[in-house]
Amino acid sequence: MNSLTHGLVLGGGHAGMLTATALARHLDTVTVVERDHYPQGPSHRKGVPQAHHGHLFVAGGVQAVESLLPGTIDRLLAEGAHRMGLPEDSITLNAYGWQHRFPATHFMITCGRELLDWVIREQALRNDKITVVEGGDAGALLGDAGRVTGAVVTDGDGRDRHVDADIVVDARGRGSRLKQWFAGQGREVEEEVLDLRLRYVTRVFAPPPRTMKEFHAVFNLFSDPTVPGPVSNAVMLPIEGDRWMLTASGVRGGEPPTDDEGFLTHLRRLAHPLLADLIGLTEPLTSAQVTRTTSNRRTYYERLDPWPEGLIVVGDALAAFNPIYGHGLSAAALGVVAMDQALEEHGTGDDAARHAMHAVGAVADEPWQWATAQDIQYMDLEEDEVNNLRDQMGDFVKMMMDAGPVQPVVSAALLNVHTLSASQSTLQAPHVIAAVRRGVRRPVLTGPPLTDAERAFLASHAKDAAAPEPDRGT
Ligand SMILES: Cc1cc2nc3c(=O)[nH]c(=O)nc-3n(C[C@H](O)[C@H](O)[C@H](O)COP(=O)(O)OP(=O)(O)OC[C@H]3O[C@@H](n4cnc5c(N)ncnc54)[C@H](O)[C@@H]3O)c2cc1C
Repeated sequence: MNSLTHGLVLGGGHAGMLTATALARHLDTVTVVERDHYPQGPSHRKGVPQAHHGHLFVAGGVQAVESLLPGTIDRLLAEGAHRMGLPEDSITLNAYGWQHRFPATHFMITCGRELLDWVIREQALRNDKITVVEGGDAGALLGDAGRVTGAVVTDGDGRDRHVDADIVVDARGRGSRLKQWFAGQGREVEEEVLDLRLRYVTRVFAPPPRTMKEFHAVFNLFSDPTVPGPVSNAVMLPIEGDRWMLTASGVRGGEPPTDDEGFLTHLRRLAHPLLADLIGLTEPLTSAQVTRTTSNRRTYYERLDPWPEGLIVVGDALAAFNPIYGHGLSAAALGVVAMDQALEEHGTGDDAARHAMHAVGAVADEPWQWATAQDIQYMDLEEDEVNNLRDQMGDFVKMMMDAGPVQPVVSAALLNVHTLSASQSTLQAPHVIAAVRRGVRRPVLTGPPLTDAERAFLASHAKDAAAPEPDRGT
């Protein structure tokens, strides 16, 4: 009889690769079953359709990946990804105004999702305990509601194979069918969904040569969702190959169109014309890609009692967020780290999966609260409902959000939470409360906080477009 312990990971995407890495620390062998065949390099694949859109990878998640797969950040940067200091390298306008570019306290990595996945996959698959089965559809689980013992894997020719395992982890993303499997066992899983039907449209552009050196910035232009009427946003990221990836989004009549002219009109309708001016200097490299798969979906597997031995759920299969907050990749990575720690603490025997499931669920709670609390403001509410929301928000939170763009201590505290580097409870630290009370430290900015070099760049490249108002505040 074979006494080697075996882990089975269903889905070989972002969370799947990290999970395989973590399981390999606790088990003798790990098999990852992935429906796609992987491309040779950093290219698109069908199973990750969201890769067409901009992916911000915030510090909390990046550090989680680095702890599982040391060397990943360096490898990404060597392949052309960008490390963006926050808020220094960010030109951001939100409902509370233009953010001062204070010296960086946090960071994010920006690159195409294909590059990110490829580097993480290469790093993970160096581990010779891990084997991947490509072109395998992971379907029903083996076992029963008391203990999961493996899964049925269907190959490209439609042949079913039973794969046994001591621990099975569902990392099949938004398309996971685990809830249906539980329904087949007569068990209903609690689920919450909040779907704004936010429309995302993304294109990649080539800016003029040397732009990335002179304009080293991430651009975020957000409407104030509490003002009635259309909501139109856009985020532009530098990605590998000296390109810009621009994701426009909108709802309530502010949805971005996909045709060239309509897309540019959307950019012109934003709260400031900066992005429209910059795009006017570029060459489009791709056609517009569109999605409305932007809902928040939280499936509370950890609330099922009893929880089956041998089963864990991670990533989007457990909690998927409105992508506008840039939290999905990081929440998934932090969840895997929590799973790893739970296995370390409780071992891989009886009850291990239940402990791990609770640990992963707890990590998802904060980004879930964040995304849903923000999203409610985007809903098409009557004026008195908006006023109610503002009342519920409380004077202190409002003061904090107002102070964020202009007060360095508050800015850093909010970035701690935005980048999933610390829990929301850190916003109540005495030094943060004192800074909020002290109030505004820098003048409120009336235009984008551009550096002299950035203004000079704009002026030299767009002689007939007026350069935006200089920053008088930093
Ligand atoms: C439009 C959009 C933009 C986003 N932007 C951001 C962002 O800026 N920042 C951020 O942090 N997050 C962002 N996200 C979220 C991020 O994409 C997800 O959180 C992340 O991909 C979750 O990883 P995962 O491994 O759980 O799922 P996925 O990455 O989706 O991987 C699931 C894997 O499972 C495989 N699979 C599925 N079913 C089966 C099956 N039956 N058998 C075998 N394999 C299967 C798939 O092929 C795929 O490889 C965005 C999401 C969307 C939709």
